[in-house]
Amino acid sequence: MSSRPLDHGSPLSRSYRPAARPSAGTGRLVAGFVVGLLAGLAVVSLPAVGGATDLLAVRHWSAPDHTRIVVDISEPTAYLHRALDDPPRIAVDIAGGRFLFPLDPIPIDDGLIRRLRFNVLSKSGKGQVVLDLEQSTPYDVFALEPYQSKPNRVVIDVKRRSAIPRPPPVKRPRVEQEIGPEGFGDFLVMIDPGHGGEDSGRRNPDGTREKVLALQFARDLKKTLDSRPGFRADLTRDGDYFVSLRRRREIAERHGAHLFVSLHFNAAPSRSARGTEVFFVSLKGATLRAVRELVQAENSADLVGGLPPADRETQDDLTKMLVDLRQSDSVERSQQLALALTDRVGEVRGVRTRPVKQAGFAVLKSLFIPAVLVEIAFLSNPQDLRFVKSKRNRERYVDAMADGIVNYCETVEIPRLGWRVHTVRQGDSLSKIAHVYAMSLDSLREANEITGDKIRVGQKLRVRPR
Ligand SMILES: [Zn+2]
Repeated sequence: MSSRPLDHGSPLSRSYRPAARPSAGTGRLVAGFVVGLLAGLAVVSLPAVGGATDLLAVRHWSAPDHTRIVVDISEPTAYLHRALDDPPRIAVDIAGGRFLFPLDPIPIDDGLIRRLRFNVLSKSGKGQVVLDLEQSTPYDVFALEPYQSKPNRVVIDVKRRSAIPRPPPVKRPRVEQEIGPEGFGDFLVMIDPGHGGEDSGRRNPDGTREKVLALQFARDLKKTLDSRPGFRADLTRDGDYFVSLRRRREIAERHGAHLFVSLHFNAAPSRSARGTEVFFVSLKGATLRAVRELVQAENSADLVGGLPPADRETQDDLTKMLVDLRQSDSVERSQQLALALTDRVGEVRGVRTRPVKQAGFAVLKSLFIPAVLVEIAFLSNPQDLRFVKSKRNRERYVDAMADGIVNYCETVEIPRLGWRVHTVRQGDSLSKIAHVYAMSLDSLREANEITGDKIRVGQKLRVRPR
């Protein structure tokens, strides 16, 4: 699914500094959320704080299951939304609306929304945002409070009806249930590119954004792992759009992933801080201040990216799951995975590594599979920045990551889980397979009751390293 982020009016949103508002206003804003599913008409009245509301900027992001429109506004204000037919469209009227960006229509053409149009309603003086649709479809409208550099926002999520339905939820899988000693396929690694959509993550003043780099590294790592026999990789996000932290974990679970690797980039006030830092989950809070701050930055993704009200989970939900004893085993294995990754990545020329650490990243919590969060480099450090911007370096780096993952699986997961099955691919030979799984040719033959060297594409072989 293509994603075409257009930062219309972004200079305005970047230069905008939201004024501090009294907390009473914040409470009223939260209470005023409304969810409209094909709502004929919905009015949300929010007390305006201060004077007229300006419409500062508009952005849009196309995800596989929805398209999100974000309108930056200068003050919390009333808005009204309705779905209309002939032609199908959604109109959102924003009170007091003075547009501070050009009123030219913005084409989207993502199969869901044709274009955005903007009107100033002559009677009421409201600013109107119109979404011309391909066909009528459910949508949500909700407000977001200012967060960090983001001002007040009105968010319109248009849902894709034809979105592939989610696969039925599997019982929270223990790896052992999924992979018996026999009939075991490829190892599935879920790669999680951090941030996306509204949430750019860390930035360097030169324009480098964490969400973009994380996706580049993730796609490269997927490609590399897919080329390793016995391994497969999937992405929690394959485009520039928002995915909540909870949804990222759900995707891993629903796909039956065996490992979870979240990719991020760091930044620090000191330009000298540099290097890769691999984290595994801690069920307690972090003790180091720098780590606490990092955890806070990564865990705030839902606040920056904009979680629809219906998806806001209580913290209790998370805490309950953490108590599950099963997790202590995966925490230990997560540590081993973190060490294996750090080991291999440390061998790449131009990369420094920092000691493996434990921290309470929300995206890792409540996963019952080994899970790590890799802060690949510091975007605030000139050497690190130069390194990650080179395609060649990126390839060397993800190759080392893949080595670390494979190495971890071969030494920890595979002996634990017993036999694996390797499906013979074009170009495989018995000796190549033996080499990949660190088996002797004889033991590979023996395990599969083969006498000669003949194998055929699609044949399933039992393999086990060392
Ligand atoms: Zn991050």
